[in-house]
Amino acid sequence: MTDSVMNWLPYAAYVAPAAWILLRLGRSKTRRQHAAMNAFRESREAGLDSPASLHPVIDHAKCIGCEACVHACPEYPNHNVLGVMRGKAHLVSPSDCIGHGACKTACPVGAIRLVFGTAERGVDIPEVKPNFETNVPGIFIAGELGGMGLIRNAIEQGRQAVDGVKSYLGNTRPVPKVVDLLIVGAGPAGLSAALAAKASKLDYLVVEQDSLGGTVAHFPRRKLVMTAPAKLALAGEMQFKETTKEVLMDYWQNVAKRYQIKVASPERATGIKPHSDGTLEVSTTKGVRRARAVLLALGRRGTPRKLGVPGEELPKVAYRLADPAEYAGKRMLVVGGGDSALEAALALAETPGTQVTVSYRSESFSRAKPKNRARIEDMETKGNSRVLLESNVVAIGKEKVRMAQGGKEFDLANDYVIVCAGGELPTPFLKQVGINVETKYGTE
Ligand SMILES: Cc1cc2nc3c(=O)[nH]c(=O)nc-3n(C[C@H](O)[C@H](O)[C@H](O)COP(=O)(O)OP(=O)(O)OC[C@H]3O[C@@H](n4cnc5c(N)ncnc54)[C@H](O)[C@@H]3O)c2cc1C
Ligand code: SF4
Repeated sequence: MTDSVMNWLPYAAYVAPAAWILLRLGRSKTRRQHAAMNAFRESREAGLDSPASLHPVIDHAKCIGCEACVHACPEYPNHNVLGVMRGKAHLVSPSDCIGHGACKTACPVGAIRLVFGTAERGVDIPEVKPNFETNVPGIFIAGELGGMGLIRNAIEQGRQAVDGVKSYLGNTRPVPKVVDLLIVGAGPAGLSAALAAKASKLDYLVVEQDSLGGTVAHFPRRKLVMTAPAKLALAGEMQFKETTKEVLMDYWQNVAKRYQIKVASPERATGIKPHSDGTLEVSTTKGVRRARAVLLALGRRGTPRKLGVPGEELPKVAYRLADPAEYAGKRMLVVGGGDSALEAALALAETPGTQVTVSYRSESFSRAKPKNRARIEDMETKGNSRVLLESNVVAIGKEKVRMAQGGKEFDLANDYVIVCAGGELPTPFLKQVGINVETKYGTE
C-alpha cells in the first residue's frame, strides 16, 4: 500500500457514511423531482391547470430551488401542490392548492407572491370594505366568498363581520317581525357569525341550502384537515391544528347544539332586494324572509348543478356522497364525469354488494385525472359496475331511472342517484343583488 493511501485510511470511516448519506439525499431529491413531474403532467392532461383562488406565483429569477416551499405546504406529502423541476419551484398541481400561503412565508429569498386568478382564468372577488360591508348598504360578506380561503380565516372573519353589522344596526331602527341579521351559509364563517350574533344578543337566523359545516362537510371521509387556532364567540378558542374532517364536524355540531344556533335548512337564498322601509327582503326556496342586515357566508363552492329532469326532487337523489357504506348492497347511478363523480363511483364500487353505473354525457372522461380514469376502467372489468358514455338521464322514478343513449331510451333498475355535475358559482347571485365584483387575473 502506498503512503498516500495509508494517509487517507483514518478518514475513510467518516468519508464512507457521509458519501452514503449524500447518495441517499440525492436519490430522495430525484424521487421528489419525478413525483413533481408526474403531478405536473397529470394535472395538465386532466385540464386541472387552474388554481381555485389564492395561489403562489414563483419568480424563477429569484428561486434557488431549495424546496422549502414544497415542504412548508400543509398539503404535502398528501398532495404535491408545489414541486421543484430543473432547479426551480413550480405550482405542479394547481387545483390542489387551497391557498394556505405557507409557501410564501417559507421562501428564504422572497420569490413567492400570492395572487388571485390567472391570466387565462379570472377569479371574481366581491368588493368588501374593511368592516366587511359591500357597496349595498346592510349586506356584508365573510369567509371564502370574499377571497380569503381557509377555515381559520372564515371563523375569524365571521366573528369580526358581526362587529361591522352591529355598528350598521346602531344607525338603523329595529322593525317588528324583522330579524336583525340573516346569515346565509352555515360553513365555518356562517357558524362563527351566528355565535357572535348570539353573544351580542342580536335576533338572527342562518339559512343553509345543505347542512352545517359548509365545504368541510363535503371533504372525503377521514380527510386530514390542517388549520390553526381560531376564536369562536361563546365557545372560545378552537384549538385544532391538525385533525380529521370527522373530529372537526363533531366539534362544530356540538357547539351549534350547545348554543342552540338557529339554522333553517335546507333553504337556499335566491335573491335580495331592498324593502321600502330600509330593511332587506331575501327570497329563498321556502319563501321571503326580512332582515335589517344580511351576511353572505356562501363560500365559493356554489350551488350543486341540477339535472332538471322529472323525479329529481325524490329523496333518493343526492348531490354528494357522504358515506359509501350507507349504500351497501344498493343499485347506484352516479351522474358526471369529473374527478368527484369518478371518486364517488370508485368508493361505491368498493362497498360490498353495491352495483354502480356511471352516466356521463361526453364521449370520454377527459376532465378527470388519469389515475381516476384508469381506476374506473379497472372497476368496469371487475364486473360490479358499468360506464354509460354519451348518455343522459331522462327521468328518475322510485325504483328505476329512464336513460337515453345512442338515440334509444331504456330503464335502469335503481335505488339511489348521486349527481356530481359541478356547481353554479355565486357570482351571478352577487351581481343580481347589485354587489360590485372585480375579476382578478393573477393580481393580489
Ligand atoms: C378539497 C379541499 C380541502 C381543503 N382543505 C382545507 C384544510 O385542510 N384547511 C383549511 O383551513 N381549509 C381547507 N379548505 C378550504 C376550506 O374548506 C374553506 O376555506 C372554508 O370551508 C370556507 O368557509 P366558508 O364558511 O367561507 O365557506 P363554505 O365552507 O364553503 O360554506 C359556505 C356555505 O354556504 C352555503 N350556501 C352557499 N350558497 C347558499 C345559498 N344561496 N343559500 C344558502 N346557503 C348557501 C353552502 O351550502 C355552504 O354550506 C379546503 C377546501 C377544499 C375544497
Ligand atoms: S422556497 Fe423559494 S427559493 Fe426555495 S424552491 Fe420555493 S420558491 Fe424557490
